Amino acid sequence: MASMMQPQIILLKEGTDTSQGKAQLLSNINAVTAVGDVVRTTLGPRGMDKLIHDDKGSVTISNDGATIMKLLDIVHPAAKILVDIAKSQDSEVGDGTTTVVLLAAEFLKEAKPFVEDGVHSQNLIRSYRTASTLAIEKVKELAVSIEGKSVEEKKGLLAKCAATTLSSKLIGGEKEFFATMVVDAVMAIGDDDRLNLIGIKKVPGGNMRDSFLVDGVAFKKTFSYAGFEQQPKKFLNPKILLLNIELELKSEKENAEIRLSDPSQYQSIVDAEWNIIYDKLDKCVESGAKVVLSRLAIGDLATQYFADRDIFCAGRVAEEDLNRVAAAAGGTVQTSVNNIIPEVLGTCEIFEEKQVGGERFNIFSGCPSGRTATIVLRGGADQFIEEAERSLHDAIMIVRRAVKNSTVVPGGGAIDMEISKYLRQHSRTIAGKSQLFINSYAKALEVIPRQLCDNAGFDATDVLNKLRQKHAMQSGEGASYGVDINTGGIADSFANFVWEPAVVKINAINAATEAACLILSVDETVKNPKSESAQGDAAAGAMGRGRGGGRGRGMRRR
Ligand code: ADP
Ligand code: MG
Repeated sequence: MASMMQPQIILLKEGTDTSQGKAQLLSNINAVTAVGDVVRTTLGPRGMDKLIHDDKGSVTISNDGATIMKLLDIVHPAAKILVDIAKSQDSEVGDGTTTVVLLAAEFLKEAKPFVEDGVHSQNLIRSYRTASTLAIEKVKELAVSIEGKSVEEKKGLLAKCAATTLSSKLIGGEKEFFATMVVDAVMAIGDDDRLNLIGIKKVPGGNMRDSFLVDGVAFKKTFSYAGFEQQPKKFLNPKILLLNIELELKSEKENAEIRLSDPSQYQSIVDAEWNIIYDKLDKCVESGAKVVLSRLAIGDLATQYFADRDIFCAGRVAEEDLNRVAAAAGGTVQTSVNNIIPEVLGTCEIFEEKQVGGERFNIFSGCPSGRTATIVLRGGADQFIEEAERSLHDAIMIVRRAVKNSTVVPGGGAIDMEISKYLRQHSRTIAGKSQLFINSYAKALEVIPRQLCDNAGFDATDVLNKLRQKHAMQSGEGASYGVDINTGGIADSFANFVWEPAVVKINAINAATEAACLILSVDETVKNPKSESAQGDAAAGAMGRGRGGGRGRGMRRR
């Protein structure tokens, strides 16, 4: 320990790069602002999309903040925090990913002049945290509950929320069509938490409007063998047997070593092989099942055998599809054909194989356990369908959130303006520097309506002035006014059904403030030369405990 007090201590390895102090903080803020600038043009119904292609040549077109951030492959250690908050917003609430990145960037942008002037970041952090708490309380206060409505009414309201989410996407032109579909899908699975109960199947080709919802399970016809065409393709109330075994004639020499002393015994071995498979097939047939699905292969012998007995079979069904059939039809996947009791068989009202575009689909509808739904998406290019799937995912998450928390706030920047006004008012009651900081926080919130205008080509200053005036009205009647994306003026977002679940805003404000405060609290970045070695991140992780390496991000918190 004593040696630590000597003037010449080598604390860090040679080659370690440390940057610290104000300059470091400002450079982090600049990096974050740069990331914000990348995604800002994608916000809102008139936002643009980004086309991202990687070195493997795959092309993604997306408007979704989280997707873009993930694909950007950001290397700046501080800017990476934005990727994390976008991801967490995506998994927590599903929408508002651009919003969260934009807010965080704007909070820091507003903080920059103060940092330059020498304000200690802890003062900023404290004020930002206070502002965030106040803002969230205000959102909760302004949120309107959609609880206690009839199912039909509620469906209509949820569809409005889904439509708002979808309006900023590529499929925004058909938002009502898809919003209703999403609401029906979410309603079909009830309050089950498993998102994978809603399947989305993509079939390239056709028109967006050819997309449809199956209240049950649908999956692409699996590979089939000769004899398949003779099988019936439609059943009413069939029993469904779900298997996880191979139904194929197997040469048993692969499982056992057989030694023959007399060539005439060979036939008995071959017969035994046939008996094994026939025995399995007989048991399947005896169970009374009309539809046999297996996760593993169903060979040509079995296919023909089932065809002769008017049974439908499909092998190599994807595990998730098989599980969804089990959840919907009420069966259990079997790993043996011995002792198939009626309870393990599932059933549904209609099973059929149907042609969808260039593909054939196995469709199970009217399932007794309900609890699952499948959206079959149609559309032109692959990239288009992929983006449509991501958009539907956002909408599904939003509807599920709204079902659970059932409070909504007006979108189109209305809620942001209202909180901004509230914080400005509040800041005036504070004496001292934090008045300025809270005021800046309030100003940063206006980035949402401003960007919505910018992206639509409206005069942002003009619209924002109008909005400020509306929101400043004493009566409070202007509280739900936001940007009118159609006319370039302002409109009551609530009356126009531009609704967002309150949790989207609450989570976004929370996460963005946290990220901003985290970045403000960093005054030194230490680059560990080891972490750049061939082992890359693995080494960085292991070194993290050493010093400075901080989870391989090269960051250290004070
Ligand atoms: P995010 O990834 O943050 O969800 P979006 O690109 O989906 O970003 O844009 C969401 C923003 O667009 C929200 O602030 C929402 O209120 C606004 N918005 C959506 N639909 C409309 C509309 N019809 N009119 C005005 N604003 C809208
Ligand atoms: Mg969105």
